[in-house]
Amino acid sequence: MPWRVPLADLAFGPEELEAVIEVIESRWLTMGSVTERFEKSFAEYLGVRHAIAVANGTVALHLAYASVGLRPGDEVILPSLTFVATANAVRYTGATPVFADITSASDFGLSPRAVEEAITPNTKAIAVMHYGGYMCDMPAILNIAQKYKLTVIEDAAHAPGSSLQKKPAGTWGHIGCFSFFSNKNLATGEGGMVVTQDDSLAEKIALMRSHGMTTLTWDRHRGHAHSYDVVALGYNYRIDEIRSALGLVQLEKLEKNNEKRREISALYREHLSKVDGLNLPYLDYSEVSAAHLFPVLLDKSLNRQAFITEMHTQGIQTSIHYPPIHQFTYYQSLGDMPTLPVTESVAGCEVTLPLYPGMEAEHVENVVEAVGVALEKSCE
Ligand SMILES: *Cc1c(COP(=O)(O)O)cnc(C)c1O
Repeated sequence: MPWRVPLADLAFGPEELEAVIEVIESRWLTMGSVTERFEKSFAEYLGVRHAIAVANGTVALHLAYASVGLRPGDEVILPSLTFVATANAVRYTGATPVFADITSASDFGLSPRAVEEAITPNTKAIAVMHYGGYMCDMPAILNIAQKYKLTVIEDAAHAPGSSLQKKPAGTWGHIGCFSFFSNKNLATGEGGMVVTQDDSLAEKIALMRSHGMTTLTWDRHRGHAHSYDVVALGYNYRIDEIRSALGLVQLEKLEKNNEKRREISALYREHLSKVDGLNLPYLDYSEVSAAHLFPVLLDKSLNRQAFITEMHTQGIQTSIHYPPIHQFTYYQSLGDMPTLPVTESVAGCEVTLPLYPGMEAEHVENVVEAVGVALEKSCE
């Protein structure tokens, strides 16, 4: 279906094309000098010691969880209102995800109070997710983590360029994980990054990214090594040079693109904050958000499916972020899942509107008009 306004769109230009051609002409496609430059630039951008590029955001999370030694029996407290990967990656280690509620209908971040209530002697880590680029209450989460000696992992897939008190998302916890999937703020198709200030975690993550091998094909190609040892069980979670080249170009554009996302979000808020039937989260948010998503909540009396159907009829693509993980069949099969009143309430009436850097004021008006019609259709 050709959308009048799609949910997301790439911010690609001739620079991305040139960067890819350059890699192809270099005749070196696997992890090499371009990936090294991408990692170095990303680390500098966040002001963090280590950035390790990987195949996608899901394996970034897996490496983060694995590097802190999670095992069966261990528990990780995390939100249910996130993409399923945040929890799936916990399961890859055999550990148990323990879902905790979000703060409120205007702040979809993990609730520090709910986190503290969910702690047991088996709790090893807290994983937060900065919904839509709006950051969780990290000072409160870190306080709890210190008190109970827990590791904090940030799923910062929505938040490259977000910051809280000027400290970037991904650098508050022990490990930060990013995704460069096609619809993310920094897009390479597939791709991800793990960041940390901790030298020993970084070493483990880098080893596990490539089979636990002590040298890379790239080292041997350059004559820096002739053989290798395998010192841990690892995986093939490597990124390739084509994607790293896209990542370098996209990183250059990230601040400008995030600024455009913030401007479009502000325009939406101007038009929609006083509309009957709609509630907007993060209206008072005063920190720097990467503005990855623009979520709205419909009044409980309205029919969400009718709203979405009418938006689609009008050529406006929408989405739902997210069907809560604790209600999925697989997670229910793991055992009793908690009741999460705020998560369930928000997830039941949330709709995500189109947002991407190339959106013009005219597109925003198209969406706003369609919202007006769809709201009427959804009370019938
Ligand atoms: C996109 C996303 C991921 C997973 O990233 P992939 O690169 O698609 O594997 C994880 N968590 C959240 C919140 C995401 O939005």
